[in-house]
Amino acid sequence: MQLEKLEIKGFKSFGDKITIHFNEGVTAIVGPNGCGKSNVVDAIRWVLGEQSTRMLRSEKMENIIFNGTKTRKQANLAEVSLTFDNTKNILPTAFSQVTITRKLYRTGESEYRLNDVQCRLKDITDLFLDTGIGADSYSIIELKMIDEIISNKEGSRRNLFEEASGISKYKLRKKQTFGRLKDTEADLSRVEDLLFEID
Ligand code: ATP
Repeated sequence: MQLEKLEIKGFKSFGDKITIHFNEGVTAIVGPNGCGKSNVVDAIRWVLGEQSTRMLRSEKMENIIFNGTKTRKQANLAEVSLTFDNTKNILPTAFSQVTITRKLYRTGESEYRLNDVQCRLKDITDLFLDTGIGADSYSIIELKMIDEIISNKEGSRRNLFEEASGISKYKLRKKQTFGRLKDTEADLSRVEDLLFEID
């Protein structure tokens, strides 16, 4: 599956809107230290649903919104969109092109969109499950992740293999099903209490 483009506006060092087109082959981003190369990777992680501020190298989520410079006002909205070519139907959707968008307002409100239709974070995570793409997957590998995988910190090596072999999806569904079963058991017990009171 081919990444087509990344659009960033108001995210970290990108006050103005920038669009990066990923053509076939390898795309390399070069620039001096501190110019924002890693912020591009952070933007990809973020739009895929990353919730950990540590992974985004930020103390709190609000800090990912462009903070302004001496000559520029800070932004009130961070917005990132990532577009995929889905002509090979790797993503389980009928669309041949998929754009996911995440927005965060300084007020704390946030929004996810799928092909410009508002959706839940879960819709985005479900879409990318087992594709190797996704906030928790192995599509973005940083140096510190290699250390974690080698030392198998918190079972990270197992998680990597489970994602690659397609097991993660079933583990997640099992967890969700157990959650629903627990809720149903609680509802049943409430109904029994009510029936007892009526009798
Ligand atoms: P290095 O080569 O040192 O790893 P880099 O090119 O990867 O650097 P980044 O770490 O991506 O650079 O970017 C760091 C820059 O982003 C810093 O100048 C920092 O001030 C800026 N930055 C981070 N968050 C924000 C923000 N919310 N608003 C404005 N600028 C920000």
